[in-house]
Amino acid sequence: AATLSIVATPIGNLDDMSARAREVLAAADVIAAEDTRHSRRLMSHLGVGTPLISLHEHNESARIDQIIERLAAGEHVALISDAGTPLISDPGYALVAAVRAAGHAVVAVPGPCAVIAALSVAGLPTDRFVFEGFLPSKPGARRARLEALAEEPRTVVCYESSHRIVATAADLAERFGMRQLVLARELTKLHEQSVALAAAELPAWLAADDNRRRGEFVLVIAGAPEPQSRPREISLDALLAELLPLAGTK
Ligand code: SAM
Repeated sequence: AATLSIVATPIGNLDDMSARAREVLAAADVIAAEDTRHSRRLMSHLGVGTPLISLHEHNESARIDQIIERLAAGEHVALISDAGTPLISDPGYALVAAVRAAGHAVVAVPGPCAVIAALSVAGLPTDRFVFEGFLPSKPGARRARLEALAEEPRTVVCYESSHRIVATAADLAERFGMRQLVLARELTKLHEQSVALAAAELPAWLAADDNRRRGEFVLVIAGAPEPQSRPREISLDALLAELLPLAGTK
């Protein structure tokens, strides 16, 4: 009661829906969903009859007050998005912040998430990574963002859509050259594919087959190599500490 549950749903394969996620959705008083028509199909597949209300980027602020009223009345509200984990390149951040500020419990029901699925198969370092979400859609802003990421030592993860994958690949090839990356598309779906190549090879790989440009993409880019080749920086203090005793013994 009086809880907002953040519930992950599949990113493709419906069997990835957890038993707990289904139970929480069935037990909730209401489910806030990004696209209610899309989610109604999933709910009927799961046999969940809980009422759905919409919560998307254009009505999130208007919905917040209604949801907080429901929580104040002791209701259990669940939040889902069209796919994967809500709030991860999906709506819900403003709602969660407001629900917390109002003093109600927020509980995670974790599950599928494309960033994590892609990282888990990429074979690139995962001890530290940066999630960039979608790169800017305007070419100038996108190139500036990639420029800012060029020296990033951590593994970089980006989301991309079929509309922009070709343009983004061209920018990646230009800026990252021989840097290793992994493109993962259609994860958990019928035509799932992941490929490791150099950034410079990505445009040709995409051009080779129309199907390779379809669907949903995650790009996992190796971090910049640690600057071992740069001359070791020695502080002036350390240098003096080494040299001064020698000078004294002369
Ligand atoms: N909340 C989702 C999650 O947890 O991953 C992400 C939602 S975001 C609006 C949609 C983007 O996620 C897609 O454009 C794609 O970059 C990525 N994505 C979602 N499902 C995917 C899949 N099955 N395979 C590859 N990428 C996927």
